[in-house]
Amino acid sequence: RAKSTSFIGLGRMGSEMAYNLFSKEYTQSPESNFVVCDALPESAKAFQDNFLSQFPGANLQVVDTPVQATVASKTIITMLPSSPHVKQVYSESVIPALKGLPSQDITQTLCIDSTTLDVDVARAVASELNSLGAQMVDAPVSGGVAGAKAGTLAFLVGGTEQSFKLSQPILAQMGQRIIHCGPSGAGLGAKICNNLILGVQQIVVGEGMLLGQKLGLDPAVLASVINSSTGGCWASSVNNPVPGALPEKSPPCERDYQGGFVTALMLKDMGLATEIARKQNSALPLGELAEAIYAKSIQEQPELATRDFSAVYKYLRAQNVS
Ligand code: NAD
Repeated sequence: RAKSTSFIGLGRMGSEMAYNLFSKEYTQSPESNFVVCDALPESAKAFQDNFLSQFPGANLQVVDTPVQATVASKTIITMLPSSPHVKQVYSESVIPALKGLPSQDITQTLCIDSTTLDVDVARAVASELNSLGAQMVDAPVSGGVAGAKAGTLAFLVGGTEQSFKLSQPILAQMGQRIIHCGPSGAGLGAKICNNLILGVQQIVVGEGMLLGQKLGLDPAVLASVINSSTGGCWASSVNNPVPGALPEKSPPCERDYQGGFVTALMLKDMGLATEIARKQNSALPLGELAEAIYAKSIQEQPELATRDFSAVYKYLRAQNVS
């Protein structure tokens, strides 16, 4: 477990993040070892082929299981779909594998989970790792696949001061803003609140843009008014859902909503917000409605699940046919 980093979960985000991290670490220390693992072996192999084509001398190994990835490295990074996957990988693989290692190896272990998942699940995993003597941070990201590729992600970090300091230089290889939000779970709390607001805004921007068109307004004129007025927000000024509203910025709607942050993930994040709010007795009347609208949009137009979440506009438009 000398100088080695393991990355588990090489999907749309993880593959870009691991590429940035490993390429920078390799350039700084060519003797570094890198380990990758994914439930789909072809994803890990594709990553390896791509990385080695750029850095032929790198020590990059594909392993079949998260247990092997844990035993191989002191730094373990996970980027998985959601709570059940994180629970499974840590409870069934990372934690049991660590328990089999000498105690000095356990205390030198740092786990960084960048998945967006339930705060309580993340806290439980971190607490179990901490009780063994290992460090863990929750470090969900903002910035999407484009930010992951460009290395400009924002990391919202939850954990102790010590674990934050250990994770900071690693996260800095994959992102631009590394924010310590507070103790374990705080990074996820910040991420979930942000996406709750974003999810609601994207729907209401679609509603306003639709109503404006019914009133005879040109979408580009309306978008420019909103974006220089008090209704402007990221959902209107960058991710405007109406083709022709922001032609110069080329939002996903210009490609039939391909790419971007898919509706299924937004629905998952709205669900995380409404679930934690129920546990906290915190009222989310708009959040609950927005969650139901995203769910209904996928139910009625299943192809929207894998389109950018601004495609909720297509669903709203279908409600407005007359
Ligand atoms: P993804 O589904 O593309 O990737 C997840 C990867 O994890 C897949 O390759 C899958 O095979 C792998 N995986 C699943 N279970 C596994 C297991 N048990 N062991 C090993 N590998 C396993 O998802 P993504 O788009 O990369 O998103 C990852 C996380 O980042 C999610 O929590 C998402 O909400 C969050 N996020 C995504 C975006 C985005 O724009 N895609 C933006 C911000 C945050």
